[in-house]
Amino acid sequence: MHPCMGCRTRKSLCAFIKKGCNRIAGKNPVEFCFECSDFACENLVRIDTVYRTRFDMSLIENLNYIKEKGMDAFLEAEKEKWTCPDCGEVISVHTKRCYSCNPP
Ligand SMILES: [Zn+2]
Repeated sequence: MHPCMGCRTRKSLCAFIKKGCNRIAGKNPVEFCFECSDFACENLVRIDTVYRTRFDMSLIENLNYIKEKGMDAFLEAEKEKWTCPDCGEVISVHTKRCYSCNPP
């Protein structure tokens, strides 16, 4: 199982946001949604609602955390949160499962 390491590691735009946003590409792109004067825009709130409801996590909370404490602190906290205590592999945000310990 190869967990998705996210858009940034692939030098790609956020797959969730890019459709409804003209600020993450083009002229003067923002790096994080919180840098935008529209933060948190309707598009982001909609996706955040889905993630809060279905997966018990909030993109907006994560963005605010990064804004306040920085990316290094965020990544450290997330690493701890999403590392399987039994084998050290990544836990899926979508299913809360470690696919190393519990293959699909
Ligand atoms: Zn595991």
